[in-house]
Amino acid sequence: MEHPENSAEYAGLQVNAGVEQPSMVNPYLKQMRKKRQKLFTPAEYVEGILKGNVSMLSQAVTLIESVLPEHQAIAQEVIEKCLPYSGNSVRIGISGVPGAGKSTSIDAFGVHLLENYGGKLAVLAIDPSSERSKGSILGDKTRMEKLSVHPKSFIRPSPSAGSLGGVARKTRESIILCEAAGYDNIFVETVGVGQSETACHSMVDFFLLIQLAGTGDELQGIKRGIMEIADGIVINKADGNNVDKAQLAATHFRNALHLFPVPDSGIVPEVMCYSGFYELNIDEVLKMVFRYIDKVKESGYFQYRRNEQSKYWMYESINEHLKSSFYYNPSVKDMIGKMENEVLGGQITSFVAAKKLLDTYYDTLK
Ligand code: GDP
Repeated sequence: MEHPENSAEYAGLQVNAGVEQPSMVNPYLKQMRKKRQKLFTPAEYVEGILKGNVSMLSQAVTLIESVLPEHQAIAQEVIEKCLPYSGNSVRIGISGVPGAGKSTSIDAFGVHLLENYGGKLAVLAIDPSSERSKGSILGDKTRMEKLSVHPKSFIRPSPSAGSLGGVARKTRESIILCEAAGYDNIFVETVGVGQSETACHSMVDFFLLIQLAGTGDELQGIKRGIMEIADGIVINKADGNNVDKAQLAATHFRNALHLFPVPDSGIVPEVMCYSGFYELNIDEVLKMVFRYIDKVKESGYFQYRRNEQSKYWMYESINEHLKSSFYYNPSVKDMIGKMENEVLGGQITSFVAAKKLLDTYYDTLK
């Protein structure tokens, strides 16, 4: 029997040809993406960077941050070729706990610096937490409203991939490219929690610590030893009815600094109050930084510190390289979970496990 659905009365059940749905994705996107990812030769990047071409600089920094071996190969060649043109900037580390006012202050310091002292300014960042939070907020353009639209500024958020050592290395390499591109001043922003200040300290000429009044941070700073690495301490938010508290905090810091030995530079850090938001005392803080730079350039400590940093980074690079070579080794990777379980189960000691893993690693090198 003929099925009723096939009769003319069942027209409602017929499938009509539909209208083609527009794609959710802009068809030109692929093309655009491809265009953006076009790689240049190392010589082309270098030429662009030396001319101060921001787009080329930006793309080269992206290659530094990339984990792809082919990107890394180009990046390393670009860095090497830029090295002779680097080293001419003043590198300033800026650290403080979240909420201390780093971005507000960098915006204020940066614009003031460019407007009153000229030159070009790059803002880079080291944020070890960015791997966890998938994307860094440090050095983010949106947080530095005025500076981000200034034609003489270059702002780059923290590289987000890898360990703190890896992130810091990438920032250090980016400094080289920024210097080759003619940036006279470089701010390196970092969160004042944990190890990141030490990493930042290892690549800057001046380490500025932003503190707040009345939060107990004074004591924390002293305890954690961060004050030993600060070349200047500034108390932010010294505005409105917070001025007295800020000045009191500054006195506490000055007193506390007397308890520490005089730093290698021979210069006892200055302590100052300012307001990033209301732009009070901004010039004084900048003058403090450049006063220090002038002094250490004259004494030779500036160059000594940079040499020490280069040495430090040589060893850091070796450590990083050896570590990743070990942990990414397929035989080690196969074995490491089992070893860990045996250690946890008390079957072998940590040292025996480590030795077994290392022996396995060395065997694969033969
Ligand atoms: P960051 O996390 O260290 O980058 O801190 P932000 O720059 O984002 O500032 C944290 C908060 O403190 C924001 O709400 C700012 O508006 C505020 N703030 C920053 N600087 C000052 C300042 O000089 N005075 C006052 N009163 N507030 C400030």
